[in-house]
Amino acid sequence: MSDRIVIKDIKAPLDLKRTAENMHISEDSDFYDELAEAVEKANEVARPRAVLKWVNVDDVGDGYAVVDGVRFDSKVMADKLKDSRKVFFFAITAGDEVQNDTDIEDSMGVLKDMLTSQILGAAYREMMKYVRDTFGSQSIAFMNPGSLPDWNMQNNFALIDAIGGVEADLGITMNSTGAMIPFQSGSGIIFADDTGYANCSLCRNLDCVGRRVPFDESEYIRIFGEVPDN
Ligand code: SF4
Repeated sequence: MSDRIVIKDIKAPLDLKRTAENMHISEDSDFYDELAEAVEKANEVARPRAVLKWVNVDDVGDGYAVVDGVRFDSKVMADKLKDSRKVFFFAITAGDEVQNDTDIEDSMGVLKDMLTSQILGAAYREMMKYVRDTFGSQSIAFMNPGSLPDWNMQNNFALIDAIGGVEADLGITMNSTGAMIPFQSGSGIIFADDTGYANCSLCRNLDCVGRRVPFDESEYIRIFGEVPDN
């Protein structure tokens, strides 16, 4: 197996009903027909894509992990990777096809953003399914730079560099903060985990509308020692 896998066209079409539910748009809403048309067009043009790289965990110590030769100073990463010998680096994007499509009507000025967010979520689910189905890794989780207390966005430079070819294969570029363009893109590490770990459990952005699991204060204290006041 090559240690680097490019998935050029992730099959993750949006389901209208699920998309409407996620956006809190009821079937009785005046906006529903516009959404239905936009979902159909988005499914025609969207090309979510990803790169996976199967890499060695070289070393894990107190508050750091060395993965594929790259040192990451992070307590949470050290905690989650301490029993792993191999993990996947990944980069994934919803692409810019929906944002650039002039046929998709966006009277509210937010529809394309909402759709690409949903496309990225669907692409994430397919990527994780691909890893489970292809490599038989049933219990897996992922972590991303930017959403964890001690793994900030600046770590994205080393991660994207280690994956290599992300701009050529996916069309992703980065700004000076490490944020990726197109905006609806992600990167991180997929690792073996049977605890049901999700980044959100350690993220203190308590008002986030995308939260998947509640903030876990006791786990936060176990890893970081204390919860700061703000
Ligand atoms: S709570 Fe929101 S910002 Fe924090 S990790 Fe979850 S989705 Fe990301």
